[in-house]
Amino acid sequence: MAKKKLEFEVDVSEGRVALEGEDCIIFDLEGFKAVLLGMWEVFGSGAYTILLTAGKHMGKRLAGNLRGKGFESDRAMVEAFVSSVTEAGWGRIVAENLTGKGLTVKVYNFALYRGERSGGRDCAFIKGVISGFFSALWKKVSCSEIRCILDGDECCEFKVERGSV
Ligand SMILES: [Zn+2]
Repeated sequence: MAKKKLEFEVDVSEGRVALEGEDCIIFDLEGFKAVLLGMWEVFGSGAYTILLTAGKHMGKRLAGNLRGKGFESDRAMVEAFVSSVTEAGWGRIVAENLTGKGLTVKVYNFALYRGERSGGRDCAFIKGVISGFFSALWKKVSCSEIRCILDGDECCEFKVERGSV
């Protein structure tokens, strides 16, 4: 098991937490799933689109962030994406078959499917993150989930294709 320690800086007088200079809010996983449960309760299947869109915004932001840290080539950006999302606790992310046409992203042990479920397709969120990240890189991309943990597969697998919408 590869372990790594992250240091959060907590400013108790201001109620502020930072990781590597960036403000954070620490959510425990079950707390975040409770938020998602609320979304599915109110919006039903519409929560899928909300999660997808929210994920896209997050993916775009992450791409901008990593560019700002000096990652440039597609390969470097993909590697940085894999480690940041994995290290943020979403699950074990694996990127495969990176070519000029796109790549495959696999999500093993997806955080939102551990333990209690919200009852919805929460991988819409990580799909959005992947889709938003790669559209920031390549402009037009299509992202489809071709395997899903909820269907009994060992991971959620996303195919990202460049140049088509
Ligand atoms: Zn899935």
